Amino acid sequence: TRLAEAAGIAIDNGIAVDAQGRTSVPHVWAAGDCTSFPYRGTRIRLESVPNAIDQAECVADNILGAGRDYVAQPWF
Ligand SMILES: Cc1cc2nc3c(=O)[nH]c(=O)nc-3n(C[C@H](O)[C@H](O)[C@H](O)COP(=O)(O)OP(=O)(O)OC[C@H]3O[C@@H](n4cnc5c(N)ncnc54)[C@H](O)[C@@H]3O)c2cc1C
Repeated sequence: TRLAEAAGIAIDNGIAVDAQGRTSVPHVWAAGDCTSFPYRGTRIRLESVPNAIDQAECVADNILGAGRDYVAQPWF
């Protein structure tokens, strides 16, 4: 997050991304442990392998133009 902060990207309990993985800076995307993202009316930060993989796949799709919101799967 220090790198993102130094670049002027908004931080809110991690790199703040929208539902599709965009940061506050155009053309900069983020996924995984370093992010917080919208979830059921609030923002959450998940630090788990399933989230790191699922969110990254979604954000990669969105970089390619999918326009898909990330929906975190319940995980125990
Ligand atoms: C001790 C421990 C046990 C865990 N056990 C589990 C578990 O049982 N199950 C589970 O689901 N999760 C577990 N986790 C969490 C899991 O490891 C993380 O959620 C997952 O690795 C996050 O993946 P990521 O790709 O988002 O981040 P990371 O795996 O942290 O990858 C980020 C990468 O970016 C690199 N990096 C950082 N800054 C820079 C920079 N400025 N320039 C270039 N590279 C940079 C880092 O070196 C790192 O390789 C555990 C974590 C820890 C620490």
